[in-house]
Amino acid sequence: MDVTMRWHRVLARVALVLVLVHPFLYRGIRGPAYPWDTTRQLTLSWEPEAILPGAVAWLLLPTLVGLALSRAGLGKKYQNWRLGHGVMAMVICVFAIWHVLAAGRYSADPVLSYLWLALGGIAGLCLLRVYLLAPLARLRRPWRVARTAKVAERTWELVLAPDGHEGLTYEAGQFAWLQVGHGPFSVDDNPFSIASAPSDGPELRFVIKELGDFTRSLGQISAGARAFVDGPFGHLTPIECDAPGIAMIAGGVGIAPMLGILNELRARNDPRPVTLVYGNRAASQIVDGDRLAAMEQAGHLRLVHVLSEPPQDWTGEVGLIDSDLLRRTFDDDQRSTWVFVLCGPPKMLSAVRKDLLAMKVSARQILSEAFVYD
Ligand SMILES: Cc1cc2nc3c(=O)[nH]c(=O)nc-3n(C[C@H](O)[C@H](O)[C@H](O)COP(=O)(O)OP(=O)(O)OC[C@H]3O[C@@H](n4cnc5c(N)ncnc54)[C@H](O)[C@@H]3O)c2cc1C
Repeated sequence: MDVTMRWHRVLARVALVLVLVHPFLYRGIRGPAYPWDTTRQLTLSWEPEAILPGAVAWLLLPTLVGLALSRAGLGKKYQNWRLGHGVMAMVICVFAIWHVLAAGRYSADPVLSYLWLALGGIAGLCLLRVYLLAPLARLRRPWRVARTAKVAERTWELVLAPDGHEGLTYEAGQFAWLQVGHGPFSVDDNPFSIASAPSDGPELRFVIKELGDFTRSLGQISAGARAFVDGPFGHLTPIECDAPGIAMIAGGVGIAPMLGILNELRARNDPRPVTLVYGNRAASQIVDGDRLAAMEQAGHLRLVHVLSEPPQDWTGEVGLIDSDLLRRTFDDDQRSTWVFVLCGPPKMLSAVRKDLLAMKVSARQILSEAFVYD
């Protein structure tokens, strides 16, 4: 999903540059033609029915990209912004294809015409699948809220139970989009890592930090409320990989997928050594602290708590998860053979990744999940 989003943004920027530049590559009707263009294929013609749809798409595309780049500053609800982004993109596609077919020379060649129409058709089918067929399938597999509870400072657990079906097939560490209190056709959905494991049973547990309108309303959701789950997604799934040990590095609510992975490792009696480096600002933010401590006492886990604002009696690590701490925690052999699973705030993720790469951990050994697509 991250990779798709990254490509989406790169392609949008490339498309924007090409689209903005292309009218200037033509010659005007009164000017001389390019020497190699004897049939004047590269001369702009001004038939309004061909140029106008192109002009609309040409003006709307920079607006679309500009609104996407400045989304954070717009103060719009994410779901409303996303709906507007999608509708505007569709309008641009329709006008662009119209223009390409009406004004194009090479691009209106019959074979290419079918290509544009086929690409437009595929995009339309994707929308049909995402906004009609997938919600219809979800309608047959509803979920109910089993419970919600505060588990740490500004952090909640939400547990969903399948309603009349066997539940979700997923791997520990994956995530899903949730629609809670809305129908499956609603555009109100939010992605969350699954903090439980397949071996825990059919209920799904999520650990959620208050951030915006939905996550701040978790305390008001009552047991029995209807929910829908779209998933699973994601590759934060280290269990099947053949590394001799697993290093987990979590910042704040980035602990969520790690909890599911730890549960699954225990359920399978996986003998591999596991180290969890868990960073928070304050002790009050630690989720499942007692359970993690019990796992450590039972010898299933080496636990390294890191606090940037520790209480006076704190005996764990202090500060941020930096290269010094990583070097002290993982020896040369572990750095060169273990799999490293990262989840947390984007700044922490990129800093830890950089540190690991500098310590000769290869990119192939690192799995990471960012909680934002920006
Ligand atoms: C793969 C993934 C896994 C995540 N797992 C967890 C988790 O386990 N626990 C947790 O606390 N948080 C998790 N998040 C972050 C969580 O999705 C957002 O905090 C939450 O959606 C905010 O919703 P809101 O309505 O409260 O706030 P809003 O103000 O509506 O949104 C705040 C920000 O959250 C992001 N966001 C909101 N809705 C969506 C959406 N539908 N798709 C993509 N991004 C969205 C956007 O960046 C937005 O700017 C995860 C995010 C991703 C992408």
